[in-house]
Amino acid sequence: MKRFLSLGLTLALIFSIAALSGCGQKSDGSSSESGAGSAASSSTSSSADTSAGEGKKPTISGGAAQASGSGDSTGTADANGDADAAALTTVHTQEYGTCTNYDSDENNIKLRLNYPDGDIDALDNAFLDWAKQTAADYQNEQGGSDVAVSLAASYDSFNVNDRVVSLVGTASLNHSHSALPETKMTTFNADRETGKLLNFKDLLKDGGETAIRQLCADAGLDSTRTDLFDNWLLTAAGLRLYLDGEQAVEFTYSQLRGMLTVPKPPRKIDPSKPMIALTFDDGPSKNTEHILDLLEEYDVRATFFVVGNRVSTYADTAKRAVALGNEIGIHTWEHAKLTVLSPDEIASQITRTADAVKEYAGGTCAAVRPPGGACDDTVKQVAGQLGYILVNWSIDTLDWKTRDADSTYNAIMSQAADGGIVLCHDLYESTANAMDRVIPELIDQGYQLVTVSELLSYNTGGVTPGNLYSQRK
Ligand code: ZN
Repeated sequence: MKRFLSLGLTLALIFSIAALSGCGQKSDGSSSESGAGSAASSSTSSSADTSAGEGKKPTISGGAAQASGSGDSTGTADANGDADAAALTTVHTQEYGTCTNYDSDENNIKLRLNYPDGDIDALDNAFLDWAKQTAADYQNEQGGSDVAVSLAASYDSFNVNDRVVSLVGTASLNHSHSALPETKMTTFNADRETGKLLNFKDLLKDGGETAIRQLCADAGLDSTRTDLFDNWLLTAAGLRLYLDGEQAVEFTYSQLRGMLTVPKPPRKIDPSKPMIALTFDDGPSKNTEHILDLLEEYDVRATFFVVGNRVSTYADTAKRAVALGNEIGIHTWEHAKLTVLSPDEIASQITRTADAVKEYAGGTCAAVRPPGGACDDTVKQVAGQLGYILVNWSIDTLDWKTRDADSTYNAIMSQAADGGIVLCHDLYESTANAMDRVIPELIDQGYQLVTVSELLSYNTGGVTPGNLYSQRK
């Protein structure tokens, strides 16, 4: 856990706020992150705050308060309490839903809203309800229903992934006795799969809140404040917390590892894009967990060809590998060279291992990697009769020989190719450390990291038990 917490020190992306605009002023979406960075608003600050000078808070790039305080603004709140959205124009990111106008004037409350009309009713309604309630509360604060108030609100929305949508809303409020608008902001996050709003507490893993508060402390924030998680937003990059409305901090998913569960979209493999299968032989071992951490962090998969007699010792590791969607393959019961064994002995080496994987890891095996890659017709015949394919490799890292992370890294990166099967060994710390760079860099190069069975499922003609494969064809 310490390892993650120390990352908090490097944090501190401070985001600023922007404000209202009409519908139809979307950014092109290609710059959603920069759009997100200027998304929110301030909570209860008066525009008078910013009239003191725009340079006071350099991270504030715009916003309701600023717009109304600046000289080029023609439509600040007028004496009738009409907060003019036209004065608050900024570029918005509205990736979710169709920006829709909602205007009403009832009970001395004038509403001018832009809201998203999308496929998650709970989200659309949450924003509308928030705006209406905010206006009603404001009117009460100002003296009740005799006071004419107005509220103009708009939003930014982000398709965080195929499942999660997040929204940050801004409202500018005014009333008949004052020309000083007040601004408020809110955030909502929704799960497209359930159609429900996401509750921050529900996303926390055990100890997650304490760990995130520590991240905040490491970033120089008051981690004890009770409103720390009042306005939170999931983004493509991580978790953003809006503090005092005006500024936000963001922690990356890497920093949040082990603290937060983010609903993930269903896994998709694009057969038209390059893929590589990382494979790890001879484990499980104490170094396997580090590789699993990386696979989980980057949401990619690999294949572990386990030695059967090690599985019970590392049952939790093997179980975790399966739970994360990785493939477990068979590397015989005791790392036996299969070509010197009888058919019965070969069969026993395979089935004992498959049974151990089933018992201790809860997974089923489809592939056998013969130790040393040693394979002959007898091995193929026995494996075929038992229903297993045989898998060797196309990229040999020689990690068992070099025991050097740089060498392993270089071997993979210099030979990486679409359809490749990479031979590694999770017995070695150097191999696990090499993955710190290998996995993100292969992803950066456009490779999908898949299991051998996934990779070979795209073989022309499929796969046949008893056949030996070393790459996708
Ligand atoms: Zn081996």
